[in-house]
Amino acid sequence: MANSSLPTRIGRRLFGAFLIVAAVPVVTVSIYALGHFSSVISLQQQRQLGDALRSQGHLFLARFEEMMALLPRAQDGTNDHAFLNVENLPASDNSLGKPTLHAASESLIVEMPLETATLRAVINPVWFWETLVALPPRVAMCVESVDSGILLYCGNQDGYELDLQPMWQEFSGIDQPAQQFEFNDETFDIATWELFLNSPITGANWRFTAFRRADDFIEALALGRFLPSLVALSIAVAALFSLILLRRRLRPLHLLTDATARVSQSNFSEPVVIEEANEFGDLGRSFNAMMERLQEEVSRYRINAEIDRLILQSESTETVLNLILGRAFVFVDAQHLTIGVFKHQDQRRAICQSTHADDDLVGEIKNLSLSDSQLAQVANAQRPIAIDSTWLGTEYQNDLGGQTGLLLGINWHSRPLGFLFAGIRREEDDTLVLRNQLVELRDRIAVTLTAAEKEKELFTQANFDTLTGLPNRHLLEDRLKLACGFKRKRGEPFALVFLDLDNFKLVNDSLGHSGGDALLDQVSRILQASAKRSDTVSRLGGDEFVVILGGCDNPEEANRWAEQAIHALSRPLDINGQLAQVNASAGIAMYPEDGNTAETLMRNADAAMYRSKELGRNRVTFFTEDINRDITRKFQIVTRLRHALENDQLALAFQPQLDIVNGKISGVEVLVRWPDSDVDPDEMIQVAEQYGLIGKLGQWVLENACTQYTGMQAELRPPRIAVNVSSLQLADSNFVDLVTSCLSKNGLSPGALELEITESLLVENAGLVAKLGALKDQGLTLALDDFGTGFSSLTYLQKLPVDFIKIDRSFVTGVDTDRSQQGFVSAVVQLAHSLGKKTIAEGAESQQELEKLAVLGCDHAQGYVFCHPILGIDGLAEFIGNHQRTHGAESLLSTYAETRDCQTTATPIR
Ligand code: C2E
Ligand code: CA
Ligand code: CA
Repeated sequence: MANSSLPTRIGRRLFGAFLIVAAVPVVTVSIYALGHFSSVISLQQQRQLGDALRSQGHLFLARFEEMMALLPRAQDGTNDHAFLNVENLPASDNSLGKPTLHAASESLIVEMPLETATLRAVINPVWFWETLVALPPRVAMCVESVDSGILLYCGNQDGYELDLQPMWQEFSGIDQPAQQFEFNDETFDIATWELFLNSPITGANWRFTAFRRADDFIEALALGRFLPSLVALSIAVAALFSLILLRRRLRPLHLLTDATARVSQSNFSEPVVIEEANEFGDLGRSFNAMMERLQEEVSRYRINAEIDRLILQSESTETVLNLILGRAFVFVDAQHLTIGVFKHQDQRRAICQSTHADDDLVGEIKNLSLSDSQLAQVANAQRPIAIDSTWLGTEYQNDLGGQTGLLLGINWHSRPLGFLFAGIRREEDDTLVLRNQLVELRDRIAVTLTAAEKEKELFTQANFDTLTGLPNRHLLEDRLKLACGFKRKRGEPFALVFLDLDNFKLVNDSLGHSGGDALLDQVSRILQASAKRSDTVSRLGGDEFVVILGGCDNPEEANRWAEQAIHALSRPLDINGQLAQVNASAGIAMYPEDGNTAETLMRNADAAMYRSKELGRNRVTFFTEDINRDITRKFQIVTRLRHALENDQLALAFQPQLDIVNGKISGVEVLVRWPDSDVDPDEMIQVAEQYGLIGKLGQWVLENACTQYTGMQAELRPPRIAVNVSSLQLADSNFVDLVTSCLSKNGLSPGALELEITESLLVENAGLVAKLGALKDQGLTLALDDFGTGFSSLTYLQKLPVDFIKIDRSFVTGVDTDRSQQGFVSAVVQLAHSLGKKTIAEGAESQQELEKLAVLGCDHAQGYVFCHPILGIDGLAEFIGNHQRTHGAESLLSTYAETRDCQTTATPIR
């Protein structure tokens, strides 16, 4: 019952508690009362029983006396109703003694001694015990003779059903009877009273015993029987009342629980109705207020979430602002709201949109020009500032209709993005609550505008070069693709120019990184200035620039533009107060002849630019089929070379060098070979340098040269082993470490390793010179290769920490006959010697050349006259062995004729 009518758990518990509270005292009191009542009753009963017994006794005594009085009269023969029989009655015998009473079974006999005889009379029991009829109802009584133990009488009033005989038998067997006695599962109250008849009649003590059922009296009251039902009834009544009471009391709780459940499902539509003037009523009202507030909050969160979703979906700023304005009055208790967003190009102009609380419709977009003071106000309005409603201008006057407004600035990274203006009717409406609402709304708008800004920033980052602000490779590719598509439709050609600064690395190293950056920035500006607005000037990275000349439809015009650009770039530039000069190499590819896709156009312009570099830089080259073939071959070579390097398919050749003075082998140059290929070392090195493989290749040569050299028999080992090092390799930051580890791995003394550095532009580089110095300090031998082919600046020669100068083959060929060659060689030798360096003449092919070199003072010689490069270290060892055996320490001039034979003993390669 309680379960169905009390749906709340707390209701059921309370109900249970109520029941316990009601039932416990009722039951306890009832049990106690019953117990107490019955004990009082039984005491009463005992007493009554005793009284009844005593009065019976008195009655009996009275009857006894009556009988005694009747006894003398019985002498006259009257058979009085008191006696059944009288014997030996003399006529007059006065000498009477004391009568005695005898109890015989079922009868009473009274005897009285006379003078002559003893009078003996049998007492009529019906008459004698007649008085006992006066026994109270429901009481049984037995009378026994104490002396003889004979039961004289047992009886009760009619209707009181008792099996007296067997009961008496059991009772008389008990030694010391208590006040109560159990018989046949019934309890009887007992009362006894002894009558001493001695005084009038000797020898006759009688005991009266009265019985009565112990629960008779209570039963008579029906208490025992009705009490449990009574208790149950009172508990039921209590339960019913408490149920009704609880249901009433808990109804508000029930309503509140339901309402809370509704709120948890975001259903705020039904308020709780508790019309009670107590705490429940208060609770209900507070709950409704809370629900209202919650509803507001939730709808705010929903709108916020919607706004966030739109922001994340990158919806346009207008869409998001429209949404914010459309829902703004959920957030804000203002009359009017305007959001102004500053135009990107012009911070004084704002695009405004408004909404009014009365119609809630977002108004059309209006433009607003702001004065300096207004801009300053926006910048300062981090928190709302009160402002006249005319602030927005007359246009909004109708809309506002009020007198006051609140202004808030919207900033991002302290850059003003816009403002929020709220109009209110009365000044009292300007509350702290409203101000906080406005700040919250402003922050939301700020997020939207910031997201838009961020997006712009991301776009810029992804598409523009941060240093110069020019389009980057990504945007260039996009634009190039667009241009290809557009020009294809129109059937118009256009030009793509690839520009690379020639000596930028040098400038960068000498001016420092910031100087390099400044230079690149200036270059970008020069290029932009020389291009048309429709052209795209982009920076690919490093010192590479690519220009799409969209309106250029013939090669001549493209060439003219590129040459002008190179010329403009070559003018000295002021970089942080220092003058710097850069040259550039350019390559041009025309659409669609030289490529009809963005990719091929780029690749071909790049190849043409490379050709410019190969041809001596600072020039313009058009893409041609030759270049195409060349570039295709280079692509193939680079792929195969990479494969060859990874699979150890390269080999080393060794070319010995001769000490001209003593004819001994003074060293050996290591030259890389690619067996089973049509690629000669020059081409291989060039491709490796162009396509970034030179580092790996050089490392392979250095490591193998060192191990193979160390593996040679000691007495056959030449004093030095010379390894060619590309300037790009030298520029690598790990190069010194690589050399050191090669030495230590092979236990090679640094002096035994000679590094041949090509005299090139890069050797003029201060950083590289310092690096050479470090290597020199470690004890390595350094040689300046191909001397005479590059700048050959004598001042540089002085600075370079080299041990040997290798006079290029071009000055050695014909030195025996050509005077100018002789002059050059002799000058170099003298200069080298004056700087404490030695010379090695490269490419001596004839005996006469060798002789002349000796005469000119050359220290060492290397060339076919002496020995071709030998493939494999074993061939070198064999050659050296032969040489040592046949020449010993003989003078060179008598031996060189024989040394030519080396070709027959060793394997010559090219
Ligand atoms: P290089 O350093 O000037 O090497 C000398 C070149 O002259 C070698 O050509 C050699 O075979 C050749 N030669 C030697 N004696 C004579 C001669 O009497 N007459 C003629 N006509 N030529 C002679 P090779 O081996 O083809 O090497 C060409 C260039 O390749 C080398 O010029 C060097 O600059 C480069 N190179 C070779 N191996 C390596 C290497 O391991 N690393 C680097 N970075 N460059 C290397
Ligand atoms: Ca060399
Ligand atoms: Ca050389």
